[in-house]
Amino acid sequence: MENKFHLTIITPDRELFIGEVVSLNCEGNEGHFGILPNHAPMIATLVPTVTTFQDVNGKQYTAFTSDGVFKVNNNKAILLCNSAEWPEEIDKERAESAKQRAEERLSEKTKDLDALRAKLSLLRALSRLKTIK
Ligand code: ATP
Repeated sequence: MENKFHLTIITPDRELFIGEVVSLNCEGNEGHFGILPNHAPMIATLVPTVTTFQDVNGKQYTAFTSDGVFKVNNNKAILLCNSAEWPEEIDKERAESAKQRAEERLSEKTKDLDALRAKLSLLRALSRLKTIK
């Protein structure tokens, strides 16, 4: 039995983290989930959230991760998401403006598709703000 697993967090633009970790907490369509070494094979659709993990030296990490997909198998976990940022990279004012724009769109009578886009945008903004709290 292994006491660690390999974690990769990538976006189309960057590799946010690649390394050995002992735990991971993230969020998918069906809610929050935690991963420990030797987890059963699993795939999940990710929603924008605050993702946390701990490396093999005990260091705790916190990052914003956007929508995407997650897979774990054979002690290898991959988070493939549309965007991901460390707390110090998050522009608070930009996230606050995005939150306000999305809230305004949601308060108007819009088509279903626009409302869904606004909800996702709001979730990204709220998760970014939560990441830097
Ligand atoms: P916005 O409406 O402000 O563009 P968004 O949620 O639509 O926000 P994304 O599509 O998630 O943005 O990301 C597009 C790019 O902008 C990515 O590279 C992402 O890392 C970056 N980004 C978005 N918002 C922020 C932010 N508040 N701080 C830092 N980088 C951000």
